[in-house]
Amino acid sequence: DTAILWLRRDLRLTDNPALSEALARCERVVPVYIHAPHEEAPWEPGAASCWWLHHSLSALAKDLAGLGSRLIIARGDSLATLRGLIGQTGATHCLWNRLYDPATIRRDTAVKQALRADGIACDSFNAAMLLEPWQVQTGAGAPYRVFTPYWRRCVGQLDQVGRPLPRPDALPPVAADIPSLGVDALGLLPRIRWDAGLDATWQPGEAGAAARLRAFLAGPVHGYREGRDLPAEHGTSMLSPHLHWGEIGPRQLLATIGGAQDGGANDRRDSEDDRAHYLRELGWRDFSLQLLYHFPQTTDAPLDPKFSSFPWRDDPQDALLRAWQQGRTGIPIVDAGMRELWHTGWMHNRVRMIVASLLTKNLRLSWQQGARWFWDTLVDADLASNTQGWQWSAGSGADAAPYFRIFNPVRQGERFDPKGRYVRRWCPELNRLPDKFIHQPWEAPTALLQPCGVRLGTDYPLPVVDLKGSRAEALAAYDQIKQGT
Ligand code: FAD
Repeated sequence: DTAILWLRRDLRLTDNPALSEALARCERVVPVYIHAPHEEAPWEPGAASCWWLHHSLSALAKDLAGLGSRLIIARGDSLATLRGLIGQTGATHCLWNRLYDPATIRRDTAVKQALRADGIACDSFNAAMLLEPWQVQTGAGAPYRVFTPYWRRCVGQLDQVGRPLPRPDALPPVAADIPSLGVDALGLLPRIRWDAGLDATWQPGEAGAAARLRAFLAGPVHGYREGRDLPAEHGTSMLSPHLHWGEIGPRQLLATIGGAQDGGANDRRDSEDDRAHYLRELGWRDFSLQLLYHFPQTTDAPLDPKFSSFPWRDDPQDALLRAWQQGRTGIPIVDAGMRELWHTGWMHNRVRMIVASLLTKNLRLSWQQGARWFWDTLVDADLASNTQGWQWSAGSGADAAPYFRIFNPVRQGERFDPKGRYVRRWCPELNRLPDKFIHQPWEAPTALLQPCGVRLGTDYPLPVVDLKGSRAEALAAYDQIKQGT
């Protein structure tokens, strides 16, 4: 028998349940990636995601070739392409790993029905989550909307998470007459090459994911609990894009991090705490996926309906939005974050929360605009985590921080980047400012700014918004919708 292995966002050979199952059921396995962005509309992969996908597919093609197989790359309608391949190969099976965003679910359900009607054995598997959305429910059988009880329930069910599956040693060959496009033909790389920073930061693919995990286990995991909040340190795993594309799966992380033991010298209890904290963050990933699964409308609409009438600010010519996108708000920690994003395709989680708070509260621009910009520029852009991150920050989503808890970016900077190292890295024009003013240059006397080479409004912008006044306005806007309910 022959199986078509339909690869999507599970671009790995280790712990790939659809691949293992294909090998168990059939002598021949034909791995295929079908580029069909229109089927994910209106959330087709953004520019940074396309960059990642190009390199990840190249890495996967090499890995498959190394084991004696071949990656077939195609573009166009998924069902038509799969049917074409089935016709060419005489395949009897079509297997894949599940995804949870609304457009893909719709597409996959239709594909499954159609292929089954053709007499093909079609099955899907879980490669992407610790526990799937229907496995974790409240006592009343409803989905969780609040993270803490959700995660408590998950922790009690972690014994249901299977062990990661082994990487096959060899794969059956793929007939030479099955045509495939080259990765380049997909046109995923940007025409104007703005991606040098991405090249310098990332190694997409399964080997790159494994290298990130090794580096994390060798250092940052010890002290993660505290280190994860300091954007100047490399205190987190930076595995998010690898997880998004399925180059590594959460089961593998549970097995290595959940089970990893210390060599002995480190304080065992502290490290256990750090690892538990890491798993909890992975829990946020599952939590976001299950929210999107149960509340698919939240990609565009606030989960809390009273936010539908929130009075967003008028922003003529998108001047404020542009200043935010380009890292020119005049608020250093925000600008540093937005520039890190533009340069590397990634932003530290603490800073994501700070820039999102500034956009939605102080600038009072809609979270949907922020989510769209992140979607296009993040290499880890993920419909579930991005939607949940923005709704949480805007106060309109599940388990949101109370609306009135508006981040003060100056205090956040002082607390989480006390020496201003993060700000200095991304806003070098402020490099010579003393620590005291690094997060609020507008408070520095001109006599001090001048010798530091900073003319506010020329070398570095004056703040585009008054933090105190805009905070009060945001609270007043919130009162307005609160009374409306
Ligand atoms: P680590 O600290 O090493 O965490 C380990 C893993 O846990 C991450 O790789 C990630 O998969 C998961 N994780 C950690 N924090 C969260 C979280 N808050 N929500 C969901 N999963 C989490 N994450 C994305 O993967 N894609 C997005 O598009 C995305 N958009 C966001 C938008 C906003 C406004 C905010 C506030 C957060 C967003 N996040 C998103 C969550 C988080 O910022 C990133 O997952 C994290 O910074 C990735 O870095 P890391 O891999 O080093 O994380």
